[in-house]
Formats: sequence, C-alpha cells, structure tokens
Amino acid sequence: MRKILIVGAGQSGLQLALGLQSGGYEVTLMSNRTADEIRSGRVMSTQCMFDTALQHERDLGLNFWESQAPRIEGLGVSVAGPDSSRVIDWVGRLDGYAQSVDQRVKMAGWMETFAQRGGQLVIHGAAVGDLDYFSRSYDLVLVAAGKGELVSMFGRDASRSPYSEPQRALAVAYVHGLGPRPEHPDFDAVRCNIVPGVGELFVMPTLTTGGRADILFWEGVPGGPLDAFQGVKDPAEHLSLTLELMERFTPWEYARATKVELTDAGGTLAGRYAPTVRNPIGRLPGGGLVLGVADVVVANDPITGQGSNSASKCAAAYLAAIVERGEQPFDEEWMRGAFDRYWKTAQHVTKWTNAMLAPPPEHVLNLLGAAGQLQPAADRFANGFNDPSDFENFFYEPEKTSAYLASLSAN
Ligand SMILES: Cc1cc2nc3c(=O)[nH]c(=O)nc-3n(C[C@H](O)[C@H](O)[C@H](O)COP(=O)(O)OP(=O)(O)OC[C@H]3O[C@@H](n4cnc5c(N)ncnc54)[C@H](O)[C@@H]3O)c2cc1C
Repeated sequence: MRKILIVGAGQSGLQLALGLQSGGYEVTLMSNRTADEIRSGRVMSTQCMFDTALQHERDLGLNFWESQAPRIEGLGVSVAGPDSSRVIDWVGRLDGYAQSVDQRVKMAGWMETFAQRGGQLVIHGAAVGDLDYFSRSYDLVLVAAGKGELVSMFGRDASRSPYSEPQRALAVAYVHGLGPRPEHPDFDAVRCNIVPGVGELFVMPTLTTGGRADILFWEGVPGGPLDAFQGVKDPAEHLSLTLELMERFTPWEYARATKVELTDAGGTLAGRYAPTVRNPIGRLPGGGLVLGVADVVVANDPITGQGSNSASKCAAAYLAAIVERGEQPFDEEWMRGAFDRYWKTAQHVTKWTNAMLAPPPEHVLNLLGAAGQLQPAADRFANGFNDPSDFENFFYEPEKTSAYLASLSAN
C-alpha cells in the first residue's frame, strides 16, 4: 500500500486525503489545529464554491452539508456611480447552484470523518525539518498548507505573478439578520458591488456554525477609504466600520443591513496578501522532493471567489494523477505533470483574477453595462465563475467582446 503524507487540512488537503483514503492509500494528514480548534476559531474565507468544484466533492461523497447550505442560484453585479447611485445593476442565473459552507464547519467535519475512517491524523505545525525527516518514510509528500510559512520552500514564478504587492485589503464579517435584495427576494445570489477606484463589496449567504448566515466582504484598494481595518481588533468595531462603509459607498446594500449582528466572536477577518504563482516542487535540505497543492502554488486574490474552487480542482487533478501512477515512483517528472494538469484550469483563474484586480478597460465596462439589457450576457458572465476558461471567448479582447455583444443584439 502506498504511503502518502499530506501537510495541511484545508479544502485541498482534506479533499485529497479523504479521496486517497477511499482508494485504499495509507494517508497521514498533518494539521496545525484540531477539529475543535478550527470549529471554535476565526472564519477563514467566504468559500463560495461553484458547480464544477462542488461536483468533485459530490463525486467523493463529501457533500455532507449540501442539503443545509443555501443554494446560490445567481450572481449579480452592481456598479456605483460617483453619487453612490447604481449605474449598473443586474443578476445572471447560474446553470448549477453555488454554495458556501463555512470552512470551520467543513474542515472540522471532514477532519473528524478522516480520523473515524481510520486515517492517521497528526496535530502538529510542520516545519521544513519535519518534512525532511518524514519524506524518507513516505512515497509522496504533499504540502497543502495554504499561504502559511511553508510556501517559502517553493520559489515564486515571476513570469506568472504580475503583482508583487497585495492588490486589495480584505475585510470579512459573518452576520445574521440581513434582509433580501428587494428586487429579487425569491432566490439567493452572490452580489458583487463594484465601487470604481475604491474596491468591491461581496455579499453572499453561507452555512456557518450557527446555521444560515450572510457574509459582508469588502475588498479595498490599498491606501483607499476601504483600507481601514488594519489594527481593528474588536469584532463589534469591525462590523460598525463595515456598515459605515456600506452606507457611504453601497447604500442599496446598507438598506438591507441595518439590523444585522455578528454570528459569533470569530465571525470577522481582515488581512491582505500578494497574488503569487510558485514553482510547484519544493526541494528539502536532505534532497527529497515535495509537491505543493492549491494555494501553496497558486494563490489568487479572492476578488473572483476562486481559491476554494481551485483547491477542489487541484485536489481532483492530483488524485487522478496519483491513481494513474500506480506503483511507479512519484518523481520530479511526475510532480511536474501533476501540476501541469492542474495549471490547465488554474491558468484561466489566474489570468481572469489578475485582470479583475486592474481598473476595468472600456470594453469590459461596455460588457457589464450591456448585461443589464441582455440577459444571456449576464448569465454567461455569472457562469464564468464556474468555468473561467470561457472568459477567453468574450472578455479580454475588445474585438471579441464587441462581436459577442453584436451576436446577442442581432438575435
Ligand atoms: C477573505 C477571503 C475570502 C475568500 N473567498 C473565497 C470564495 O468566496 N470562494 C473561493 O473559492 N475561495 C475564496 N477564498 C480563497 C480560499 O479560502 C482559499 O483559496 C482556499 O481555502 C485554499 O485552500 P487550501 O487547501 O490551499 O488552503 P487552506 O484552506 O488555507 O488550508 C491550509 C491548512 O493548512 C494549515 N497549515 C498551515 N501551515 C501548516 C503547517 N506548517 N503544518 C500543518 N498545517 C498547516 C492551515 O491551518 C490550514 O488549515 C477566500 C480567501 C479569503 C482570504
């Protein structure tokens, strides 16, 4: 039986560990926190996942919360004008629903399942020295430790990382008591509110530790008015600031948020990071090789809500590559091949996400504006969150955007 060590119990590490476990592999999972510590800790993400990524979980029978989590059936875009009115406002319908299950719920639950099924769970914050030692007794070591310190083992790929500094300051608040959008009270949607030059507010439903809730998530251009959460330690103060900024920049969202309260003391998060693509193979001091997984190797800004989706897709790609390898060694060539398989989808996510961080060019503004009159354009944009490779066909080049819009207008 092949022995595999996975460091990091997030979306990718756990999905891979549980998938390999079902396939009869001997898996050791190393986590720097226990399930209880994760469950009672701070929120980590907004973790909205679209149909393709959710399907990978369903394929492994890991969709434990699917019936309880709100079904997100649309994705809306609103753009604020200089007077804080809405100059653009539409919602596209998703072909398959999206869902957000608080990672505190999912990772704690999956970790317990892994242990109950006989998996070896080691609670330890691994250092490079530990990996050096362990790599000798495993056929394969996978580093799925997110954006933590272990990323330093994987060199930055400058050719795929156009930004060297964070492009947004992030501030998340999980709340109860948010009202529906009055224009679409009948279905749940992710709401992306763009405030040009200032940042974005995302609003979405989730399933958290205390049941259904909503998330208010500001992405602020660094140094601008939304970049105000650094040093705010008190969750109540974090929420008041979130609401103040909503009242000022997105009054239509504030109007339904006047009665909200935080879900729990761990329901806020603030931070920032530079989007970075890394070399997928890490070399240990003793000469052993490790393969990086998901955020370790491709960390995009959450502006497009793709990281958990990508983590699921990376875990699925690596699982298939491991199984196909049979009894042959997991050598450097195999590692590169496994990453290339993941990069086939990840490259589209990175390209689109980095484009969305920059000020929108005129043809993108035209597309977003036209989607208000052309429902198929709104639907197509929304479904791009499920499969960002489709943006190649109508988003990046002005000619393709005009041709696409002309084809819709002609119908
Ligand atoms: C504010 C915010 C909002 C987001 N919103 C979305 C969204 O809506 N949709 C979406 O798809 N993505 C979103 N993301 C991104 C998404 O959360 C991540 O991309 C995803 O969780 C990455 O999964 P992962 O498995 O690579 O790493 P993680 O989920 O970060 O898991 C890594 C795990 O490894 C553990 N670990 C770290 N170091 C060690 C160590 N040395 N030893 C042992 N364990 C270790 C960590 O504690 C953690 O449990 C968001 C991110 C942020 C910050």
